[in-house]
Amino acid sequence: MNIDSKTDLYCVFGNPVSHSLSPLMHNSAFNHTGQNSVYLAFKIEDIEAGISAIRTFNVKGISITIPHKVSIIPYIDELDPAARKIGAVNTVVNRDGKLWGYNSDCLGAVAALEDKTAIAGKKTAIVGAGGAARAIGFGVQEKGGKIIILNRSADKGRLLAKDLNAQFCPLEDFNSAEYDILINTTPVGMTPNTNSMPIKPSSLKSDMIVPGMTVMDIIYNPLETKLIKHAAACGCKTIDGLSMFVYQGAFQFELWTGKKAPLDIMKQTVKQALM
Ligand code: NAP
Repeated sequence: MNIDSKTDLYCVFGNPVSHSLSPLMHNSAFNHTGQNSVYLAFKIEDIEAGISAIRTFNVKGISITIPHKVSIIPYIDELDPAARKIGAVNTVVNRDGKLWGYNSDCLGAVAALEDKTAIAGKKTAIVGAGGAARAIGFGVQEKGGKIIILNRSADKGRLLAKDLNAQFCPLEDFNSAEYDILINTTPVGMTPNTNSMPIKPSSLKSDMIVPGMTVMDIIYNPLETKLIKHAAACGCKTIDGLSMFVYQGAFQFELWTGKKAPLDIMKQTVKQALM
């Protein structure tokens, strides 16, 4: 990496942010494509101050993570229609001082799903009703999937189901026999709680699954969650969280640089860091 006075700055804003694998992923992509750019992680408490820094330092592109994906919206100059619908921004592009907001979580999740399954007409159960569930729900809806939201808190689950024009079902009533696609968007099963899964094992059994059933977990630490292991043992197709993470990063790279993202390099770099 040859940093000089022409190097463009990209970064992630989050809190906490020290665990983020985005700097590793994006710097590997910049290096591989010969882009004179560098990507750093910034712990940001006050998003308004963060926005002011973007303008002061002419930061070219920013990834936005917890807890700023919604609170950044009032500071964005132009909102992509999908990000507006979702109500969350995870990607900012600085075009000549004008800040554009996008949601690449939505695009990344859809791309990860489409690697393994069609979405149109498929019954899709989404576990969780937070920011990731909202982004993924809008993506699945755009592709013609029929959604059911399963959530721990009924009021939050019902609200997301209403916004997506979908059904709500209490988590304990989930029955895998009725769905083609199951997506976990909760942190249940993430390190250090790797022995947990978001649904009861008895609600996903090999004699209940529909042919071609696909289970995606958006957690990527560990790569193989308990849910993914259980689903594979039942005969489901599985998609790990690394796939969505790398695709959402690839969409960011393409929005920022206008170049095709080196997907394999990005995936390999993050995978190595997780092993
Ligand atoms: P969020 O807005 O805080 O939502 C979390 C959801 O999980 C809520 O619906 C919450 O239910 C549910 N939940 C939390 N703990 C639970 C528990 N013990 N049992 C049952 N449900 C529980 O978080 P988010 O932004 O959507 O992110 C969720 C996860 O996705 C995080 O682990 C994040 O790292 C991951 N993620 C991955 C990617 C990727 O690229 N792979 C991208 C974005 C996010 P209640 O409504 O009942 O509180």
